[in-house]
Amino acid sequence: MKRLFLFICLLCFIQYSFGQEQQRQQRQQQQLPPMTEEQQRAARLLPVSQFAARDWPGRLVPADSARMKKIDYALPTRGLAIAAPSRAGVDAFCKFIEDDLAPAHFNILIIRIDWNYEYECYPQLRDPNPLTKADIKKIVAVCKKYNIQLAPQINLLGHQSWAGTTYALLREFPEFDEAPHIRTEDYNEKYAVNGRPQYQSDMLYCKSYCPLHPQVHDVVFALIDELMDVFEAHWYHAGMDEVFHLGDERCPRCRGIDKAVLFADEVNRIQDHLSKSGRRLMIWGDRLIDGSNGATGLGAWEASLNQTASAIALINKDVYICDWHYGTHGLSAVQIAFNGLDVALCPYTNVPVAAEHLRDMLDWRTRNLNRSLRNRFQGIIHTVWTGADGFLRNYNNPATFAPPSEGDRTDGYGGGPSGDARVLKYLIDEFKKLNL
Ligand SMILES: [Zn+2]
Repeated sequence: MKRLFLFICLLCFIQYSFGQEQQRQQRQQQQLPPMTEEQQRAARLLPVSQFAARDWPGRLVPADSARMKKIDYALPTRGLAIAAPSRAGVDAFCKFIEDDLAPAHFNILIIRIDWNYEYECYPQLRDPNPLTKADIKKIVAVCKKYNIQLAPQINLLGHQSWAGTTYALLREFPEFDEAPHIRTEDYNEKYAVNGRPQYQSDMLYCKSYCPLHPQVHDVVFALIDELMDVFEAHWYHAGMDEVFHLGDERCPRCRGIDKAVLFADEVNRIQDHLSKSGRRLMIWGDRLIDGSNGATGLGAWEASLNQTASAIALINKDVYICDWHYGTHGLSAVQIAFNGLDVALCPYTNVPVAAEHLRDMLDWRTRNLNRSLRNRFQGIIHTVWTGADGFLRNYNNPATFAPPSEGDRTDGYGGGPSGDARVLKYLIDEFKKLNL
């Protein structure tokens, strides 16, 4: 009996060893490094389509592909949102992508281009000396080489002006203005704090277009289509943050309509247009977060005080939300995910806040949640709001990363001087560690 028992044990051991060897060989064949237990757990939770969507359009990658990295399991989205460079800055921008972003496993680059492109469909909207098709193709080539998705951005709905300047769309098509009675020329610096226009319901912040104007989408969609084709892009970022002028009571089309419905309908209309070519929309998340009555304690920019927050339940579930929080916790990402939407947390100048966002995302992705819910916590997208050329000069200057001195100024988010460059450096280091 004892011998029989030992014999069975021996058989079990041989079978176990053989199975282990088979698994090891399979891993070697796939050229994948062995995953930690936590990564294996996360990997089981990810549908293939999530990774297919992260690859270049038309190049689908199955989940067991040798091209998968460890970090793809832990943090599917690693992004940077930044303005497009000037024409003279394109080569330095491509070098930055190649030397800094690619080795740190960044896989999406949101490029705020607005009117800095030689649009053929509406040439009157071009900035002076805009980027050419050849310039964009240089950026496309380097991103394609390193499998980094591109998401071009023109701000839609809001941000059609800044301080005393009306931007190209409303300058050339003033009939699209949601609130023409609020004149850009009347912008008064006394309402700006630290150069930032302050929110007053009946005063100018940034102009919006009227989402119900019958011709506005003919123009906007033509611009999007041209831009998406030249960028060979799957993702389009429409901005749509800080939309304060919406459903103005003096707009003959919008007055009396629920502002959440107006906002959601515009988001859905843009996503529906993109869906026709299999593309997806990204927007900033602030209009979907309730800032009223102290609900979240977040102010008029970071959350909504103008009755748009219930749009969160009305928008198409294909829309991807970039949830920016620069000085506070990003717990709103949980609410966004629970409403069926993919979400990334977005830091800016404050390194401890960026660290908290990253820690939260990694944590939420390993919680005991329904698989599809868990995978809505997609990752981190860093944001830079200065011009790309100036940012890169600062980022490439070693003095930027010297320890801060006592008395250094901080910005409104608790970030020190050059905080955006420091956060990027921090994320680059952390992303590299995630793939070790
Ligand atoms: Zn209107």
